[in-house]
Amino acid sequence: TYVIALPCVDVKDKACVEECPVDCIYEGPRSLYINPDECVDCGACEPVCPTEAIFYEDDLPSELASWKSINANFFSELGTP
Ligand code: SF4
Repeated sequence: TYVIALPCVDVKDKACVEECPVDCIYEGPRSLYINPDECVDCGACEPVCPTEAIFYEDDLPSELASWKSINANFFSELGTP
């Protein structure tokens, strides 16, 4: 899955939302989040982000590694398995 990380916080540009073919990018209070159960790994969102906040999960820099679970937890809190 792809992951939206720290550079999105308080920016929420939403260019990625326009690109996502499966509409799996959701808005939270301070950031956008990708639902890992819905992302089809197409990569379309990553190059359009103006803050370069989007990474393939295996390509997250170590300092942003926690954002994989931060994205996933956003959806578990909403009740998505
Ligand atoms: Fe959507 Fe593709 Fe980005 Fe996944 S990789 S969030 S499916 S645009």
